[in-house]
Amino acid sequence: MYNPKSLKAEEFIEHQEVLSTLEHASKNKNDLQLVDQILAKARLKKGLTHQEAAVLLDCDDTAKVKEIFDLAEQLKKDFYGNRIVIFAPLYLSNYCVNGCVYCPYHFKNKHIARKKLSQDDIVREVTALQDMGHKRLAIEAGEDPVNNPIEYILECIKTIYSIKHKNGAIRRVNVNIAATNVENYRKLKEAGIGTYILFQETYHKESYEKLHPTGPKHNYAYHTEAMDRAMEGGIDDVGLGVLFGLELYRYEFTALLMHAEHLETVHGVGPHTISVPRIKHADDIDPNVFDNGISDEIFAKICACIRIAVPYTGMIISTRESQSVREKVIRLGVSQVSGASRTSVGGYYEPEAEDDKSEQFDVSDKRTLDEVVKWLMQLGYIPSFCTACYREGRTGDRFMSLCKSGQILNCCHPNALMTLKEYLEDYASKDTKQIGDRLIEKELEKIPNQKVKKTATEDINQINAGKRDFRF
Ligand code: SF4
Ligand code: SF4
Repeated sequence: MYNPKSLKAEEFIEHQEVLSTLEHASKNKNDLQLVDQILAKARLKKGLTHQEAAVLLDCDDTAKVKEIFDLAEQLKKDFYGNRIVIFAPLYLSNYCVNGCVYCPYHFKNKHIARKKLSQDDIVREVTALQDMGHKRLAIEAGEDPVNNPIEYILECIKTIYSIKHKNGAIRRVNVNIAATNVENYRKLKEAGIGTYILFQETYHKESYEKLHPTGPKHNYAYHTEAMDRAMEGGIDDVGLGVLFGLELYRYEFTALLMHAEHLETVHGVGPHTISVPRIKHADDIDPNVFDNGISDEIFAKICACIRIAVPYTGMIISTRESQSVREKVIRLGVSQVSGASRTSVGGYYEPEAEDDKSEQFDVSDKRTLDEVVKWLMQLGYIPSFCTACYREGRTGDRFMSLCKSGQILNCCHPNALMTLKEYLEDYASKDTKQIGDRLIEKELEKIPNQKVKKTATEDINQINAGKRDFRF
């Protein structure tokens, strides 16, 4: 029986509930009166249920689809303004005992180079990331109790936070590691992580078990219930995601929203972020083997419908996607992008040799961070390196109340400008700096609260004079 309050995966992601939602969506997709009602509810900015959102996703009436895209764009502006948060992944180790058939790190792959960063390697990698201008990292590691035990992950986090090179600092470490127990989540919390991210890959249990034939990840319930254990361990910012292309996208979309509803119902706070990766080519992996691949148009519609259904939740897109796809979905709802990513273990300090590659997937967007920053500004966005909430203890529901109280222009906006200014002073090319300085001047004018505006202007002058790390 479907029960969003249950702590059992098969009850909060109940297969029959997903199927009947899809049936309802398919029957009503062009009931324009119903679609209008759902859009009217979405305009109240309180989100939608999975049943309502599924109808929008299925709707193929041209005029209504345009309304869906327009509304997503509007909600994106209302909740996030024109800021885009920037981060980079850091792969710590690709040793893995699991058999995931879509990932080149599966244990049977004998031709990929296996690597694990030592603490000295981390110092080199993180220094290189700091020298680009990064302030936020997402660390990634395969599941391997011998090579990558929790103690190793904790040690890496400690090392990352300790590295201070010139004006560089990593101020927020998000963690993407395998599902684990409450005790380990508690340790991660104590180590000062930002968001705990775990992709579900697919919510379809039968497919899940086939795609994860061996290893601890085979256990659907243990994996799907991980966020509940993370929250029990004190982590209140969690990031969901599915790997689009493994199963039918309608199924994944519906179940993903059911998962978000479950977290909100049980823990009082929904997911902090949702990631939207699509399966890509990699060593030993041919994406064409998976017959549920989705077009760029459907992908954009999924992003728009997620934005409408969970307006407070950040949405993340990686360099798996090309510049043009990223440009499209940033407008429709994506709030965080990675830049200048390496999806190999190491590779920031020194590129990997051709015969020693350890990449998890091919990167489509290969631009430097300076190019990404400049591109965003030319599109009218403020690239933000802000990590203020986490450092001020505004996580979980405190973070959500900041979003809901509409303080974005008085809080996120100045923080974005101040962290962008740091970037421009310390790392930008001459051209990027000129564009950025003009943008900051213009954007400061948009801060409604005069006191905040005055403080932000003063702080930016101080950054100009060499001081760092201001925040609201
Ligand atoms: S997806 Fe994760 S768990 Fe699966 S093989 Fe790759 S690294 Fe290992
Ligand atoms: S102030 Fe908080 S919510 Fe706003 S951008 Fe910074 S970290 Fe994000």
